[in-house]
Amino acid sequence: MKIFNTMSRQKEEFKPINEGKVGIYVCGPTVYDYIHIGNARPMIVFDTLRRYLMYKGYDVNYVSNFTDVDDKIIKRAIEEGVTSSEISERYIQEVMKDMADLNVLEATTHPKATEEIPDMIAMVETLIEKGHAYEVNGTVYFRTRSFPGYGKLSKKNIDDLEAGHRDEKHQLKVSGEGEKEDFLDFVLWKPKKEGEPFWSSPWGEGRPGWHLECSVMSKKYIGDIIDIHAGGEDLIFPHHENEIAQSEAANDVEFARYWMHNGFLKIDGEKMSKSLGNFFTIRDIGKKYPLQVIRFFMLSAHYRSPLNFSDTLVEAAKNSLDRILTAMSRLEDAKAGAQNREANEEEKELLAKMAEFVTKFENAMDDDLNTADAISVIFEMVKLSNSSITSDNAQTVINEVYETIGKLCDILGIITKVEAEILDDDIEALIEERQAARKEKNFARADEIRDMLAEQGIVLEDTREGVKWKRA
Ligand code: AMP
Ligand code: ZN
Repeated sequence: MKIFNTMSRQKEEFKPINEGKVGIYVCGPTVYDYIHIGNARPMIVFDTLRRYLMYKGYDVNYVSNFTDVDDKIIKRAIEEGVTSSEISERYIQEVMKDMADLNVLEATTHPKATEEIPDMIAMVETLIEKGHAYEVNGTVYFRTRSFPGYGKLSKKNIDDLEAGHRDEKHQLKVSGEGEKEDFLDFVLWKPKKEGEPFWSSPWGEGRPGWHLECSVMSKKYIGDIIDIHAGGEDLIFPHHENEIAQSEAANDVEFARYWMHNGFLKIDGEKMSKSLGNFFTIRDIGKKYPLQVIRFFMLSAHYRSPLNFSDTLVEAAKNSLDRILTAMSRLEDAKAGAQNREANEEEKELLAKMAEFVTKFENAMDDDLNTADAISVIFEMVKLSNSSITSDNAQTVINEVYETIGKLCDILGIITKVEAEILDDDIEALIEERQAARKEKNFARADEIRDMLAEQGIVLEDTREGVKWKRA
């Protein structure tokens, strides 16, 4: 498989450090609110990478953190008059729910920054001992110029960085950060302010800097060297550059072999973000579309390309996905009425074509996770299935086509079969229960069932012939 490595700005053949094993670290969200669909892009894209590597037989150790101590969390806690941990715990639960609804697999480990403080202190101590960090008035700074490789990921020249910020030196003095030896130095540990969460450290009570968290958590749960480090492209500088500086200065080995960065989800040509106010939360979008549609929409573009979000594009994704789902349910119907016999020559040819499509799908995914092309291959399979499979075919043949399309969709995290099978029965049962509730004049229960079904995108219609249902 080839992966575009941000470090070399080239597609490189992927070779794991340990054969058959892959360690992936994905920078996770700061948990102070519901996540927006932009935040979901790295989750979906790198979950798909993980699923594909698992399909290829790798044992994947997937680590993604929650940043649960941060200015934004503290601000929210003050606004609501609750503790920071109440805010972060609440939104960790909400993010986990969104992830499950997007069919993003739970990470092997979801470390929380606040639970890893002793290791963070240890790394700061190592950096101080090695001359890469220094303390002033309870703040510990990383001595950026002490790390010769600084700027190698973002391709920034350290002198240019300094020159670009000469004017800010004055401002730093005013804001109290003038104590730094150099403008480029960044915070590893900061002293507490009144009302903020804090931990004891050799430099007094305080809390870790954001960049440090990821260096420490990836080391603990993956090791000194990570196979793949990923996140959104806004993290390249300074976050990932600083992670590299800290980890390589502390551990004396290369930090990550491959760096993968997703492009932005945009709205009207601008990055979707909380600060610009141009965002939709996953929770809100989930009321409008099944979240599987959002996942499919995200994967219909290459992960490094910017992707514009609009209702028209999401509607188009919904229609495309429906074509796949309809083909799968056609196959199921055909299977039910099909014959129990061996495949004939024509059918064997059809299965050979399906196998070719699987190879084509793998080639697309092997080419830097080209999910857009991989989806096109699934459409070719759907087209062939629609035009050639009927209940006259052998059951084994129909089953193989069905399983093959289902398997490829599963790599993309698109649920085709399980839901369709279980859901239909469940829907019927719920409709019956609702009818019974109405007979007993238990309208509250009847309404509850209607709402429950609506949440799944099932619309009920009371007709003279009884209750009819359809997928919205
Ligand atoms: P944050 O909580 O802002 O640190 O973001 C969590 C993750 O979402 C990071 O990997 C960001 O790069 C990513 N992210 C934030 N906004 C967008 C966006 N509009 N498009 C794609 N990725 C984003
Ligand atoms: Zn990080």
